[in-house]
Parts: sequence; C-alpha cells; structure tokens
Amino acid sequence: MQEYKIAIIGGGPAGMMAAIKAAQVLGPKTVCIIEKNDSLGKKLLMTGGGRCNIANSTPIHDQLNYYNKNKNFLKHALYTLPQDKLLEIFEEKDLEFHIEDKKRIFPDSEDAQDILDVLEEYLEELEVDIHTNCPINANDIEHELNERMEPVFLIENDKISLNASKIIVSTGGITYPSSGSTGDGYRIASKMNHTITDIKPGLVSFNVDDFLLRSLSGLTLNDVELSFKDKKKKISVRGDALISHFGLTGPAVIDLSNLLIEKSKFTILDDSLNQKSDDEIEELGLFTNKISIDFTPNITEEEIKEQITKDTPDNGKMSIKNYMKKFLPTNFIDYFLMKINISPSKTMANITKKDKNKIAENLKRHPIEIESLEMDLAKVTIGGVKSKEIDSKTLQSRFVDGLYFAGEVLEMAGPTGGYNLQIAFATGYLAGQEAANSLK
Ligand SMILES: Cc1cc2nc3c(=O)[nH]c(=O)nc-3n(C[C@H](O)[C@H](O)[C@H](O)COP(=O)(O)OP(=O)(O)OC[C@H]3O[C@@H](n4cnc5c(N)ncnc54)[C@H](O)[C@@H]3O)c2cc1C
Repeated sequence: MQEYKIAIIGGGPAGMMAAIKAAQVLGPKTVCIIEKNDSLGKKLLMTGGGRCNIANSTPIHDQLNYYNKNKNFLKHALYTLPQDKLLEIFEEKDLEFHIEDKKRIFPDSEDAQDILDVLEEYLEELEVDIHTNCPINANDIEHELNERMEPVFLIENDKISLNASKIIVSTGGITYPSSGSTGDGYRIASKMNHTITDIKPGLVSFNVDDFLLRSLSGLTLNDVELSFKDKKKKISVRGDALISHFGLTGPAVIDLSNLLIEKSKFTILDDSLNQKSDDEIEELGLFTNKISIDFTPNITEEEIKEQITKDTPDNGKMSIKNYMKKFLPTNFIDYFLMKINISPSKTMANITKKDKNKIAENLKRHPIEIESLEMDLAKVTIGGVKSKEIDSKTLQSRFVDGLYFAGEVLEMAGPTGGYNLQIAFATGYLAGQEAANSLK
C-alpha cells in the first residue's frame, strides 16, 4: 500500500493547484492526485472555447457580490490567491496574459493547453504522483486509525490502494459529464455526513421552439438586456446574446440562466444522490419560461416613439425595414417585423400610431418563450457541498478531521467571465496550503 501525506481526488484545475501548493510545502513524493480520466484537466482544455478564460480582473470585493448564497465563504480563498498571484504562477513559466472586454483574462497564446502544460510541469518538478484511470467511489474511502493510532484515510479499490493523512476532494460538479465530473464528490461528501444542497445546471443556453428564430443561427444581438419577472421585480442581465441552431446562447443568456435557475425548483439529483432523467427534471419545471429582450437598453420606449415621429417627415419614402437598421442588426429585422405583423415594405409615411407603439414596445420588451434548457451544455453546477459545514479559512470539513474540499464540488458558482476557474484555482490553493501546513 502506498503512503502519502495528502491524496487529492480529482485532477482538474482545483486538484492540480491543491497538489502544487501542498507539494511546495511538504516536498517531493508526499502528495498524489487520483484522477478517473486517462489524463488531467480535460474540462480545463474546453474552457473559453479552448482559449481558457482563466480569471477576471474585477476587484475581489466586487466579485464577491456575484457569487450565489453565502458569498463571504469564498472571501478568504480569493484573497489568498488573488488574480495577480495566480497569473504569477504561470508567468514564472513564461506565459503572458491580456485582459479582454468585461475584464476577462486570457493567456496571450489563447490556448488552454498551455495552462495545462504549466500545471503539469509544476507537478512533475514537485514529484507529485499522478494516478490516472482511477475513479474513486464513496465506498472506496475509509477513515480510520493507523498502527501509530493516527487518523488516516484508506483509499482502496481494484485500481489503487493507498493511505493518506489528509484528503482533498476536488472532483468538480455534475454538468458536462463527458469531462469526468459526474457528481462523485457529492456522494463522497454525503457519506462523510455532509449536506449536499440542491444541485442544478448553471450557465446554460435556452432551447427556443421557433424555427424562424433558429434559422438566424450565428447572428449576434450586441449589448441587449435580457430579463424575467420575479413577482413584480425585474431581474436582468446586459450583454451579448447569440442566436443558435437550438435557440439562444451567448454571455447574457448564459448569465441570465443562472439567475433563472436559482429560482427554479428542479434538482439534477434525487434524495439518494442518483441522477434524474432529463424528463424528470423537465417535469419540475422552470420558475418561468418567459423572458424578454430589450434591444435598445440605452433609450426608453418613449424616446423610441419620439425618434420615429421625428424621423418620419424626412424619410417618408423609406421602408420600415430600412429604417429599423437604426435599432436592430440588419438580418434580424425581417424576423422582428414579421413577429409584430408589420410589412417590411411599408413606408415610413404609412406607419400608424399603433405600428409605432408596437415597434417601441417590442424593441424594449420582445417576448421569448423558453422551451427547455440545453442541459448537455451546462458549464457549471449550481449547488454542492454546503459551505456552512466547511471552515472557509482552511476549506476543511467541520465534521471530519483531515477532509478538505476545493473547486466546483463546493456549493458556490459564478457567472461567465473567468470567475469559475478563479474559484477553482483559489480554493485548490487554499485547501492545499492548509492541509499541508497542518502536517508540518
Ligand atoms: C465548455 C466549458 C467551458 C468553460 N469555460 C470556462 C471559462 O472560460 N472560464 C471559467 O472560469 N470557467 C469555465 N468553465 C467552468 C470551469 O471549467 C469549471 O468551473 C472548472 O473546471 C472547475 O474546476 P474543478 O477542478 O473544480 O473541476 P473539474 O474541472 O470538473 O475537474 C474535476 C476532475 O475530477 C475528476 N473526477 C471526478 N470524479 C472523480 C472520481 N470519482 N475519482 C477520480 N477523479 C474524479 C474529473 O475527471 C476531473 O478531471 C467552463 C466549463 C465548461 C464545461
């Protein structure tokens, strides 16, 4: 049986960072990563469309407002590994970074493989043992006393047999299962008496049952405001939306989905942490399936009407289709006018007051009905191991001495823009540091 000071279950960004930090403190051959896939960081390679949006330069005290429940839980981790310190780890290996719109940070090479290569270089230099093709189930882990009467974790199945003084569970969430994250961490945590909060898909796209809309696939609606109503309150997100072959996607859609899903009842897992079928999830339904698009968030409905009234005398012969270029992308205009029953060839001189009202109303509140969520493309899992049961200063379980959690297996999830990788790296770093320091 192999012996380690720390065993890390799950070799994604959180697990790799935890291993690097722990091995820096404890030295070579003290730490191992146990990974179910045949290689580390499969999901990391998919991030940012393969370009890896590694973090966001928004100051941490502002970032904390974006995280769902119990936002202060992440405070210590994010301040322990803030953005500049995270990037330095990669800069030491000659990677450079730039900031794009919405403060998203990417490597200059725009290649997630480079990020993974650097992490693997550190792991090799620090002599961290990597055990691939080793899925660990909850029943493979026992917590008991060794012959020296010290508490140890025994991890044993037909692929591996080892013991470790501490374990860090960094198995990710349950969405995008092809990358290896299939919710095993929830079952491990649950067996160790932790509560798993409602598990929901996060950062998803919307299926829309509208053939004509979907036929505009590839069209970007720049800087729109998407919203839904929660009782009388409007919940909105501003940014770009993209029309796809299944409906709507793009940053604003994906961020709105988190807000909508948080309010919805369904969970991906049943009471015994088994995955429900898509139909079962669908039955529980969304909080609302009605969203609305504001194509002109910088001007009011009244201002649109005034603008049309002002422009009409000089443009009497112009078709409304041509005139609408002022407000909408050219390729979207036919669809928009068809939806509100106005002929595209109608001239400005013939636009009635009713037409004007309809145009203004639909530019500000264009209704879209969501048919379903594009579950297979959910980028994160909302919910996870309950944060109140974990010490936020160390990421150690409050119930089991020596058990730590890091990354997406935790309850927290952020919006798009690099926040989720930042959480994974920062919590991995903190868990690795604290687990290692407790053994020094
Ligand atoms: C398509 C896509 C694009 C994304 N783009 C971005 C982006 O640009 N920026 C951003 O911030 N976030 C992005 N995210 C989210 C981000 O990738 C995740 O939040 C992040 O990878 C979580 O890191 P993690 O280490 O906690 O989990 P994961 O990356 O999921 O890693 C968990 C690891 O544990 C392993 N594992 C699971 N169960 C077991 C087990 N039982 N035994 C052993 N090993 C196990 C898995 O195989 C996996 O390697 C994206 C997600 C997706 C799906």
